[in-house]
Amino acid sequence: MSTRQKVTLILLGLFLTFFVAMIIIITTNFRDFGIKSAEKRALLTAEIVKGGLTAHMVNGMMDKRSYFLEQIESIENIDALWVARSPIVIKQFGEGMNNEIARDEIDKQVLKSGQTLREMTETATKSTMRMTIPFVASAFGTPNCLNCHDAKEGEVLGAVSMIIDVSDVRGSSFHTVLYIAMFAIIIMFFILLVVNKFMKPYISIFYSIKEVMTAAYEGNYSKRVMGGSLSESKAVADMLNSLLEKLQKVFQEIDKKVYIFLRNKNKAHSYDPLVNINNTIDQLSEIYKFKQTIEHDQELEDIYERLAYVFKNKFAIEDFTIIESDKVSGAKTVVYTTNGCHCTVEKGECRADRINLIVDSTIFDNTCDQINEPDTQYLCIPYTISSELNLVISIVTKTPQESQRIRDLVGIIEDYVATAQPTIVSKKLMQILNKMARVDQLTGMYNRKYLDEFAETAIPQALRTGTPYGILMIDIDFFKMINDTYGHDVGDEAIRIISRVIKDSIRKSDVAIRFGGEEFIVLLHNCDKEFIKTIAEKIRTTFAKEVISAGSESFSKTLSVGTVMFPEDSESIWKCIKYADMSLYYAKEHGRNQVVCYDPSIIKNPSSQNEF
Ligand code: GH3
Ligand code: MG
Ligand code: MG
Repeated sequence: MSTRQKVTLILLGLFLTFFVAMIIIITTNFRDFGIKSAEKRALLTAEIVKGGLTAHMVNGMMDKRSYFLEQIESIENIDALWVARSPIVIKQFGEGMNNEIARDEIDKQVLKSGQTLREMTETATKSTMRMTIPFVASAFGTPNCLNCHDAKEGEVLGAVSMIIDVSDVRGSSFHTVLYIAMFAIIIMFFILLVVNKFMKPYISIFYSIKEVMTAAYEGNYSKRVMGGSLSESKAVADMLNSLLEKLQKVFQEIDKKVYIFLRNKNKAHSYDPLVNINNTIDQLSEIYKFKQTIEHDQELEDIYERLAYVFKNKFAIEDFTIIESDKVSGAKTVVYTTNGCHCTVEKGECRADRINLIVDSTIFDNTCDQINEPDTQYLCIPYTISSELNLVISIVTKTPQESQRIRDLVGIIEDYVATAQPTIVSKKLMQILNKMARVDQLTGMYNRKYLDEFAETAIPQALRTGTPYGILMIDIDFFKMINDTYGHDVGDEAIRIISRVIKDSIRKSDVAIRFGGEEFIVLLHNCDKEFIKTIAEKIRTTFAKEVISAGSESFSKTLSVGTVMFPEDSESIWKCIKYADMSLYYAKEHGRNQVVCYDPSIIKNPSSQNEF
């Protein structure tokens, strides 16, 4: 219900209460007045009757009194009139010719008590008043009643009863009430009109303010208050409107400026700029905290762990894999996974990475053939980190609803990846630099620095887990001759060939190191004596078959290998390398182009030891 309707209703209620009270008072007063005037009339009539009867009595015309009483009865509004004699009078004069005895209980009561009685009778159509008035004997009146009546002073001689029609009182009070009601209604109508006209502008501005404030509360600051015609309401409207204008402008500006810092432009933007600002600042502060944290992380793996933590704990993503895609080599590496990678990306290509667009299984079933589990819902999002590196975040979901939820998160995930991007790039560069410092440029094999680190980290672990390594020390026979005969370039080519032969002969888990000029160390992981011999022989025979070109000429070379078993021959890796070198020396001494396994009973002469 509107305020205007409420005010009108209250006014109407007040008027009605006032009106009903007024009607009740008027009606009651009218009735009292009518009854009183009827009473007066009755008393007067009684006096006339009394006077008339006395006159008849004095004049000795009592036998003619019927005419007199009939005349009185015929007066307007007197419905009935009769006289009743008291027992004293009946005793003295008899009941009279008209049988003037008490007709009812009222008559009897009045004759007995000498008190006037009155009774009102109301029907739907008529109101009548019955009044019975006693005639009391008195010696002091004129004539003296006691002269004729055998009665004492104050004794009741008779009573006159009459029924008077007072319906006219009711009728006239009804008309009066009707006129007053009509007048009151007209007055009420005019008052309502005036009040309405006076209140209208105030109520309108109140409604306008309410509407504008409701919209502002919901974030819409574009609505304006309607001032109306009054100068006060106009001033209020102007003030509120300029305030709203300022708020709208400031909020929009802040929202725009803060929002710029987020890459996540496709987030669900609220209608309310305040909500947007709050959301954006929240997001920025979270991202800032993330940025600060990852800047202090040491390894690239830590950054991926941190990203994974955000995905798991902030976005409640349960099943995802982070894949690095090397744009130069095309290699794909799983760098983080929660439940194992659901695709064969490491063996093949990545569709999301290739097309640089989100691959979404809910849009097209089995869109990526690398996913090896049928009916899997997935969303693979590619991110460009640098000119050499892409990241793909592959998220697997159980339901289409979950996929939809993840799709809505793509923007904010992008914000986090973008925040981590510079740190990933710098860590990646560090990784490359570190790798370069540990990798030999000519062969691409690890160098001695790497061996130092490997000896420090992997070897103690191998000792703890009891994992054996077979160690090979390989050296080309008469290599100097190549340099001397064909030049250094050909010598370099020979070194490249032997490194390829070694790499092709070993497994991924084995480690090949260029130890010196044309000297190599190979650490064969989890290896026994049989296997070390086999691999060493394989390298020797394969290299011997290799043809090295030197301009128009070509030639082949041989190599010698010394082997040792870690930790069987020694628990010190450096001692093992020394024994391998002694074995190699032994091979060189005993004709070259052969594999010699370390045997402490034979190989004792340390004169060929290199300095480690
Ligand atoms: P041996 O059969 O006893 O091993 O005879 P060798 O001639 O091979 O003797 P050694 O292994 O001592 O020779 C190493 C030579 O390798 C010395 C050096 O001139 C040459 N050299 C070292 N590094 C490089 C390199 O990077 N490129 C080339 N072309 N030669 C190198
Ligand atoms: Mg040599
Ligand atoms: Mg050598």
